[in-house]
Amino acid sequence: MSFECTFPWTGMTIDPQGQINVCCTYRNKRGEPLGNISDVEDLEEFFLGDSYTKLRADFKDGFRKNPKCASCWKSYGTTVAHSSLPFKKFEGLQYLEITTSNVCNQSCATCSSYASSQWIKLNPIFNITDQPTKAWSISDKDFDKILKIIPTLKMVHIKGGEPFADMKNLKIIKAVRETNPWCIIQICSNFQMIPEAFIKELKHCKRVHASASVDAIGKRFDWIRGGDFKQVEYNIDNFFGRTGVKPSLAPCVSIYNIHHLREIYDWAQTKKSVKFYEISNIVKWPMYHCAGNILTQEEIDKTISDQFDDIKHEFNVDALYNIKAQPSISQRNQLKSFNDTMNKVRGFSL
Ligand code: SF4
Repeated sequence: MSFECTFPWTGMTIDPQGQINVCCTYRNKRGEPLGNISDVEDLEEFFLGDSYTKLRADFKDGFRKNPKCASCWKSYGTTVAHSSLPFKKFEGLQYLEITTSNVCNQSCATCSSYASSQWIKLNPIFNITDQPTKAWSISDKDFDKILKIIPTLKMVHIKGGEPFADMKNLKIIKAVRETNPWCIIQICSNFQMIPEAFIKELKHCKRVHASASVDAIGKRFDWIRGGDFKQVEYNIDNFFGRTGVKPSLAPCVSIYNIHHLREIYDWAQTKKSVKFYEISNIVKWPMYHCAGNILTQEEIDKTISDQFDDIKHEFNVDALYNIKAQPSISQRNQLKSFNDTMNKVRGFSL
């Protein structure tokens, strides 16, 4: 890799609790972000202010020398830094990743109440005490700060929670269409439910990209995500049919699907409505959901090789071949305990 990440000069991410950071993987501890949208008067001024200036200084020797960028330089093939390349340094804030709330309609096994409101009721069942106990949603005052910067952006990346479960995202999409129509709208959705108003609006937008969080097929999907695969499949087909936008599949690789990833590829081959071209999201937290903390290197190498050797030159699946094993008995025990509880929550076993 010879490129440099441009996000310190081009990007801003607002996470599911309103915390501001340079991107979604920069390892500022929670509680130590660049700021919170509620404390910032004006996002453009903030981008030009002291916090970002100090952050940029940490990149003077490149992102590979910045320990907080470990998730980009350590491994796992495709990096978030790579997605910064279309944005040019010294042309101002161009990329905004925005999460307007943690409101969600799924309770993925690999998620938490930080990002999914559905996990709030599950926390006591799993004895989780260090995650939010209330749903978070951006205030109207803070939302206006987002609308103010939309006219000059090159890409708005809408995340969740679940983007289609929060109607504030419809206002963002409308604002792009009306004030900055060539700005790319990227939506990262679980496709569990899409209100008609979104479909109607997106049909009229010029540049829409979408990704669908399909971690598995059928009942395995239902268990991992606490969702309904059949409904998701219908919604993906309907979304493509109505908007002409073909979502890319974006599975999160965990111990729950590492042996079943090929099924996603095979399913995609039967569909006109989705694209399969890369797998780059490797679950690392909670640690016992990370396949590398449960399986041996031989087990990982064999399952990836068996599933992908014949197609690895057609798609970007480098991340799978770079998973490093560090299995531990403690992580396996925690996984077993989690699974026993989740089997009861879901009402069936994986
Ligand atoms: S190198 Fe990666 S972690 Fe660092 S700022 Fe860029 S995208 Fe974020």
